[in-house]
Amino acid sequence: MRTATPRRARALTTTRAAATEETFEYQAEVHRLMDLIVNSLYSNKDVFLRELVSNASDACDKLRFSALSDPNAMGGNEELRIKIKGDPEAKTLTIEDTGIGMNKEDLVSSLGTIARSGTAKFMEMLQSRSDGENLIGKFGVGFYSAFLVADKITVYSKAASGDDDKTWVWESEINASSYTVKESEEAIARGTKIVLHLKEGCEEFSTGEKLSSLVKTYSEFISFPIDVWAKTT
Ligand code: ADP
Ligand code: MG
Repeated sequence: MRTATPRRARALTTTRAAATEETFEYQAEVHRLMDLIVNSLYSNKDVFLRELVSNASDACDKLRFSALSDPNAMGGNEELRIKIKGDPEAKTLTIEDTGIGMNKEDLVSSLGTIARSGTAKFMEMLQSRSDGENLIGKFGVGFYSAFLVADKITVYSKAASGDDDKTWVWESEINASSYTVKESEEAIARGTKIVLHLKEGCEEFSTGEKLSSLVKTYSEFISFPIDVWAKTT
């Protein structure tokens, strides 16, 4: 189901027509999964970074693979890398990659539904077992685990190929039943940039110290360069 919502009027500082924001309902399973992640007693929040870094690495792998058969896939930029930036002042953590990226349809199908096989089974286990919380870390709940530390997530993405050369923005609040997608007014380079607006009490995930130690723990087997950068106050 999808419904278009009119965008609020903005100051007329640009001649470009304001992008139309669309609101999409999450698939019911996503909503349930998010609910389980957020309301479980699961205490090891750190795992979210492993999930986001592995997605960034998968995205770089996918582009590298498609470049094997399509010499134009890289669009003149061969660099495949991951950047992690913390900003304690803004209470944000940003994970960027120069991988394959997502167009509007990809954002809706990948970040609004659960395509993974086994997730339904996992959710049953999570609900029926008393040690369910531990399974979150072991199984890996993917992108939505970012809601362990963030109460709002903004995803900017630009697909490496296709007729659509636009940057799209996906945004959702924690526990929401819907998310929004619109064209970005700010273009990004190819790939994906995920901004986590950190929850009260999760500010440490924007500090260089915490990020460097997490990256060391979780990114041992990542084959792309990872830069960690944090603003100091
Ligand atoms: P999984 O990685 O097991 O497929 P996730 O919940 O981690 O599940 O991610 C869901 C999907 O969202 C991925 O399969 C991918 O299509 C898309 N996705 C997530 N992060 C990125 C990214 N950084 N770049 C491109 N696609 C991504
Ligand atoms: Mg994943």
